[in-house]
Parts: sequence; structure tokens; C-alpha cells
Amino acid sequence: LAKDRGRARFEVFDDDLRGRIDRRLDTEIALRSAVELGQIETWYQPIVDLRERKVVATEALARWRRPDRGLVMPVEFIPIAEEVGLIKQIGSTILSQACLAATVLERGMAVSVNVSPHQFVRDDFGAVVKRALSSSGLAPNQLWLELTESAVMEAIGSAARTFQELRGIGVRLAIDDFGTGYSSFTHLREFDVDLLKIDVTFVRDIETSAHDRAIVEGVVRLADSLKLDVVAEGIETTGQLELLQAMGCRFGQGYLFSRPAPDASPVVHFEDFLAPSATG
Ligand code: C2E
Ligand code: MG
Ligand code: MG
Ligand code: MG
Repeated sequence: LAKDRGRARFEVFDDDLRGRIDRRLDTEIALRSAVELGQIETWYQPIVDLRERKVVATEALARWRRPDRGLVMPVEFIPIAEEVGLIKQIGSTILSQACLAATVLERGMAVSVNVSPHQFVRDDFGAVVKRALSSSGLAPNQLWLELTESAVMEAIGSAARTFQELRGIGVRLAIDDFGTGYSSFTHLREFDVDLLKIDVTFVRDIETSAHDRAIVEGVVRLADSLKLDVVAEGIETTGQLELLQAMGCRFGQGYLFSRPAPDASPVVHFEDFLAPSATG
């Protein structure tokens, strides 16, 4: 009896696994054609200056418009794209769409583009960026590139030159999801970045957790003493906003200001949640 049950369970597991492999393969095939058919879209979410009450940049976020399934989020396809070698193509598409969209933004506003470690370590990544800039006409200092700590980690090896090359042409470099990777401090020492983005997981509970509040405040101070800009990700409530402002966090991003949208320059109604700034 026990044996029968064990076997039944095994078969259930087996079916489940097979189902997952099939779905994964479906996704891979569909993703390949989506890239060819131009079904990868770029959406945008503003990054705001909490002190000056203005939008300073907009982050490009990939979306897959899948005809049979609707809009697919990056968590469902970026890892697959990385695994099967499609990220280079998707990444270049997003980069050129974002640079082009940024040329019609209000003067001085930047566009911030996520870069996968797989893109960054390629020898031609510097050339890809230069091409996106020259074909759009966007000024290099209006382009920010967001690298996760694992990408920066890779840069310690072969891609260090790419890093210097990009800085050399005036592109601004950010560490995304700061604090979630390994040896964050090593990265700060080895690489000359311009900006830190504090991961949403640290910001989420600052209203209830003194511990998380201390961590965020620590990162804000660290950024300040290193003369780096700092962006708090995932701001959803006015309570979080007020705490971040009190800590001296200059920039922020989150649903409170705007959800990601297809338009590169969404309207943010600062008067809804930010008291008039002292600077007027
Ligand atoms: P990320 O770069 O850290 O982007 C921030 C994520 O937080 C976005 O999710 C954004 O929609 C979400 N977010 C924004 N405001 C809030 C908020 O107030 N609360 C919460 N809970 N979340 C908020 P999204 O668009 O699903 O992207 C997820 C991740 O996928 C990104 O994290 C990034 O790592 C990756 N990704 C997105 N687009 C690209 C891309 O073009 N290339 C690469 N390589 N990765 C991308
Ligand atoms: Mg990002
Ligand atoms: Mg992030
Ligand atoms: Mg993230």
C-alpha cells in the first residue's frame, strides 16, 4: 500500500516536472519569435527628486506583449532570455528604444536602462551603447545604466575596460538593488559608480522596522559621504516618503509617484503627497 502511494506520488511529481519543462520550452520558443516580431516593449517609471519635486529620470522596464497571454513581466522572461542567449538582443532593443524615447523628454531628463551581466561582459557592449547613443542623438550624460552587483562583480574581470569606456564617454553608472548582492563594499571601492539604488526589500518595511530604517539610513549616509547619488526604490506610501526625506534621501521611485507605463514621460502629481519644498 505504501509502495503504491509512493509510486502515485512519484507520477504526480513526474507529470508536474514534465509540465514545467514543456511550459518552459513553450516560453523559449515563443520568446524567440517575440524578439523577431518586435513584441518586446519598453515601459517607463519616473525617478523623482524628493527635494526639488521634479522628475529627473525615467527607468526603462521590459514588457513582453504576448498576443495569447497579455502582458508578461520581466521576472517571467528575463531569466529565460539570459539562459538561452536572447538577452543580448532584448537588451539592445530596450536600449535603443529607451535612448530614442529619451530624446523627446524634458530638457536634462535622463533615461535609466537595466543591463544584464550577460550583456555587460560582452566585448562589444561599449560599442552597442555608443551605437544606441549616436543613432538616437541622445547625450551620453542623459543615459544611466543600472548594473546589479553580480554584473559589477563580473566587471572585476574582463569587463573592467567596458566600465571605464562607458564612464569615459560620460554615461552614468548605477548599482541596482544595492545591498542584495555579495560584498557591496568591495564594489564601491573597486568601481567608480555615480549612483546607488536601494533595493525595494529594504525600503518596504521602514515604517515598522527600526532595523530596516537603520540600514536605509546607513546607505543614504554612505552614499552621501562618497558623493554618490542615492535612489530609494519601491516607495508606496507617504509614510515611507516622509521617513526617506527625513533621512536626507534625495531621489526616489515607486508606485506612490507612478506605476510603470508605456509613456516615457508620465505626469507626477507632486502636490498630492509632497509638501511644498522649503527651497520653493
Ligand atoms: P529593477 O531594475 O530593480 O526594477 C524595479 C522593479 O520594481 C520594477 O519591476 C518596478 O515595476 C518595480 N516597482 C516599481 N515601483 C514599485 C513599488 O512601489 N513597489 C514595488 N513592490 N515594486 C515597484 P519590473 O518592471 O517587474 O522589473 C523587475 C526586474 O526585472 C527589474 O528590477 C530588473 O532587474 C529586471 N528588468 C526589467 N527590465 C529589464 C531590462 O530591460 N533588462 C534587464 N536586464 N533586466 C530588466
Ligand atoms: Mg533597475
Ligand atoms: Mg532595482
Ligand atoms: Mg530589483
